[in-house]
Amino acid sequence: MAIFQKGDFSGLLVIQIPYIKSKFRTMSRRKFIKNSVLGAAGIMALQTNARCESGEVKSKELKGKGDGTREVIKPIVISTWRHGMEANHGAWKVLKEGGNALDAVEKGVMVTESDADNRSVGLGGLPDRDGIVTLDACIMNHEQDCGAVGCITDIEHPISVARKVMEDTPHVMLVGKGAYDFAREKGFPHKNLLTPEAEADWKKWKESESQKKPEINHENHDTIGMLAMDANGNLSGSCTTSGWAFKLHGRLGDSPLIGAGLFVDNEVGAACATGLGEAVIRIAGSSTVVELMRNGKSPQEACEEAVRRIIAKHKNLEGLQVGFLAMNKKGEVGAYSVYEGFDYAKTTKDNHELIKAGFDRKW
Ligand code: ASP
Repeated sequence: MAIFQKGDFSGLLVIQIPYIKSKFRTMSRRKFIKNSVLGAAGIMALQTNARCESGEVKSKELKGKGDGTREVIKPIVISTWRHGMEANHGAWKVLKEGGNALDAVEKGVMVTESDADNRSVGLGGLPDRDGIVTLDACIMNHEQDCGAVGCITDIEHPISVARKVMEDTPHVMLVGKGAYDFAREKGFPHKNLLTPEAEADWKKWKESESQKKPEINHENHDTIGMLAMDANGNLSGSCTTSGWAFKLHGRLGDSPLIGAGLFVDNEVGAACATGLGEAVIRIAGSSTVVELMRNGKSPQEACEEAVRRIIAKHKNLEGLQVGFLAMNKKGEVGAYSVYEGFDYAKTTKDNHELIKAGFDRKW
């Protein structure tokens, strides 16, 4: 327990830095996402925002203040990282037919959960220290109903189990064996999620010196957090991950925690987080971003302020990456991270884009 306290992650440094740093070195290995996913009208553009120093906003689309001067952009879906491009496609199929945001954010991240090439979400996710793939997920709708599962094993779609927890039980969160048993009762099939590739990575990690010193070449692509607003202007969000690679068995990060990895308030906006969950939890990250928007900040300003709080609360920022993504009721979007490298996918009727987030510092 003590090793998780007071922001001192030194006890876990042996696995922290490999996990966090490796996220940004994998982009070149990702298959390029086809730009045809939205049909003939779809456009894929890779925005190359200039580096955003703290407090500075460089991307024109991030300037909205939610002051009523702009038209509401809806439906819209945004999600973390490059894998969000494919996930947004899944969500857009729902939104473009007039479907609701909750269905969209569930269907969207299910795409990533089933992608065996992705080493940080669902099937194919890297296991914990004991070689067990444990998954965390949560979901929240426009009525502030929410559901979550933590440390669930052998179930391909933890996001759908989280939704069942929300809809079919009086609880918000189930964990471990209880979550697995509940999923099985609800008809979710048992599935081994440890792919040969992920197992090989784990064995390599176990056998190598990388348990004792930073390693930079794991193929991680990080949590997927997704936020959507449907044609009715209702917001929902989802978040799903296999978490910190080679973590201690039983560890939960921010991703299944409502208020940390995800928060939705349909009167204000929604936010999600990615990166070092322990740091996100310490500032109640996503809830903080939404509260900042409630108090008048734009999504971009709110994400920047939350990142600044994380920076202020941690003496040692080495390898400590966190990124926030947010949307307000106008369909304005913001994103910001501690370190360079965070990006997100944004899909509207006009565009399907991968956008580089602003950041406070370079690696
Ligand atoms: N936030 C996730 C966790 O701490 C991991 C990530 O987003 O990279 O489990």
